Amino acid sequence: MARPFDDVKLVIASHNPGKVREIGELLAPHRVTVVSAAELDLPEPEETGETFADNARLKALAAAEGAGLPALADDSGLCVVALDGAPGIYSARWAGPTKDFGRAMERVRVALDDTPDREAYFVCVLALAWPDGHVETFEGRVYGRLVFPPRGDNGFGYDPIFEPVGETRTFGEMDAAEKHAMSHRAQAFDLLLAACFRSGKTK
Ligand code: IMP
Repeated sequence: MARPFDDVKLVIASHNPGKVREIGELLAPHRVTVVSAAELDLPEPEETGETFADNARLKALAAAEGAGLPALADDSGLCVVALDGAPGIYSARWAGPTKDFGRAMERVRVALDDTPDREAYFVCVLALAWPDGHVETFEGRVYGRLVFPPRGDNGFGYDPIFEPVGETRTFGEMDAAEKHAMSHRAQAFDLLLAACFRSGKTK
């Protein structure tokens, strides 16, 4: 059985404002005070893992140990089937040091060239770590296809090129509530909340 979370304060082990905002929105109904790793001036650990789960664990543990509080990390990315899962765990790095996702989306388009297979999925692994070193992890996925040119200004990262299965709009064209009803992050959250929070699911 997963360890229950019964603190009132939780560190969001991320320096990515888009992720911190979405995690804050998903946790809003659960009476937990969130503080980000950036607000606590915690250093960003190097993501040396080979999987989403490895990187989520190392980020959550570093923040929990640094803050002396439970910490939640999200490691996520876009996996393109015709590119053998790239950019995958390197999704943030494809945007370069200036975090330019226009450039990252263009890099995906160029890598795909005229390949007809546009199938892709987002993965999110959430890791909840405690200062004593205990960690729980949960994975969510959403499948869809890539569209070019990018469409919509909502969300963050690769959202404007990702159209989930059964939809005609990209995540970039949906509002936050619509994205949260189906996203990889929301699915991982439902698993986390069901396993560790008394209040259960997000929706
Ligand atoms: P990391 O988990 O900090 O290594 O970064 C994950 C990267 O994957 C983000 O910077 C985004 O580029 C991308 N990504 C993860 N989740 C989403 C999402 O919900 N929408 C769009 N891009 C995402």
